[in-house]
Amino acid sequence: MTGSAPAGGSATHAGDTRMVTGWGRCTRSVAHMVQVTSVEDVSHAVTNAGVRGVVARGAGRSYGDASQNGGGSLLDLSALNQARLSSDGALVTVGAGLRLDDLMRWLLPQGLMVPVSPGTGRVTIGGMIAADVHGKNHHVDGSFGSHVASLDLIDGRGEQRRLNPEQPEFWATVGGMGLTGVITSVAFRPLRVETAYAVVNVERFARLQALMDAMREQDRRRRYTVAWLDNVGTGGPVGRGILATGDNAAIGDLDPSRMGDPLRLSQDRALTAPRTVPSGLLNRASVGTFNAAWFAWEGRPRTGEIQHLTRFFHPLDRVERWNHIYGRKGFIQYQFVVPDNAGSVVEEVLAALHRAGAPSFLTVLKRFGEGNPGPLSFPMPGWTLALDLPVAGSGLKDVLPALDRMVVEAGGRFYLAKDAHASPSSFAKGYPRLDEWRRCRDTLDPERRFVSDLARRLELVPPG
Ligand SMILES: Cc1cc2nc3c(=O)[nH]c(=O)nc-3n(C[C@H](O)[C@H](O)[C@H](O)COP(=O)(O)OP(=O)(O)OC[C@H]3O[C@@H](n4cnc5c(N)ncnc54)[C@H](O)[C@@H]3O)c2cc1C
Repeated sequence: MTGSAPAGGSATHAGDTRMVTGWGRCTRSVAHMVQVTSVEDVSHAVTNAGVRGVVARGAGRSYGDASQNGGGSLLDLSALNQARLSSDGALVTVGAGLRLDDLMRWLLPQGLMVPVSPGTGRVTIGGMIAADVHGKNHHVDGSFGSHVASLDLIDGRGEQRRLNPEQPEFWATVGGMGLTGVITSVAFRPLRVETAYAVVNVERFARLQALMDAMREQDRRRRYTVAWLDNVGTGGPVGRGILATGDNAAIGDLDPSRMGDPLRLSQDRALTAPRTVPSGLLNRASVGTFNAAWFAWEGRPRTGEIQHLTRFFHPLDRVERWNHIYGRKGFIQYQFVVPDNAGSVVEEVLAALHRAGAPSFLTVLKRFGEGNPGPLSFPMPGWTLALDLPVAGSGLKDVLPALDRMVVEAGGRFYLAKDAHASPSSFAKGYPRLDEWRRCRDTLDPERRFVSDLARRLELVPPG
């Protein structure tokens, strides 16, 4: 099968040199883009990297500067997009440049799907491993890295290694944000499904505490749980929320007269957001109006609704380029996790943002179960909150350091795939096994060829 990985965040280019941003469009830098079509190409690009180094760029769906490398090289692996299934159907082997939505289109008709999906299908498999992505089912299934049997990596000497979960180098790469090498191929265990649908229940809550109690309870029963919070509406900063829970639908859950082929793919049409949106369009009033409509429609209570998996997992993919609605300055997605016993930080962060006049356009709350052995893997048992915060016209810059303090003092940390602002010290406090990761990285890349803007900002590599 084949697939393609577009430039993602955004990229304007002159020849091979491109201005590149993350999905939040709040960070940008110019890099040399190298299209690779084989493992040998990757090896050649790594051994010939210049002084500013090299890093893989997937589909550019990380929000901050993780897949940027100002003055250096970025590798586009979209040509490495092959996929094959073992004869017993137990193992799927894919090229790291394959996009998740293309993979789902190929897997679902065979009664299979990925065991973990992030909130968009427009990511590559390489990007999913490098960020060790989580889904709505982390409390049951963990993150994507936990389902990987082996991966092929081109290390800093340009040599190919096959890594498996017995090796520390494997776990340094899962969540390692491309800084241990270039993943070229991945073998993972798929989930068997009877249908391409989920059975979904939706409940509405007037207060955050009640929603969090219900979510804890639902985690014991449902494979998928997620909540959307409204921190600009009439309920005040920590007001209403919607809790959606679900499971994969079995054949018997579907109405045969309406559903046709149970493994049929969704025909949802995508809308497209305008390329230029006047700054200032997103303000407390407009976000409030949007949230009111969203809560009225998406939040209407219902049980047993049959939703196509692509709608359930990737609702935002129905609007192309939705990241442009934040205007020229873009937005920061602030995502953190705090331990279970520090759930009050969720409310404190929402209240602080409300006081600072920095409304979050989209606020998503999930729960995590046990983390995996990756020293830089983000999930830990507890609560994770993701907030989309427009940069223009808000008091964001002043309030973020205070939020950082709340998170790290509670024993929490930030998600590197979203981060665009953390300081080296607040990052390091959240990842106590950072030195262990650094040692492993040094064995894989002794000359520190793998570098990104994020790595420089967080001092994961020497400044330069
Ligand atoms: C709408 C939306 C919803 C999202 N929801 C979730 C969610 O629910 N859960 C979640 O965990 N994440 C979520 N994300 C974040 C996203 O899953 C991650 O940022 C993912 O890493 C993006 O993959 P990508 O292919 O776009 O990689 P990029 O953004 O291009 O790169 C991300 C990192 O991966 C590295 N990388 C990419 N390819 C390779 C490779 N072949 N070898 C080595 N390193 C590589 C890059 O160097 C970079 O450090 C969401 C993003 C969006 C836009």
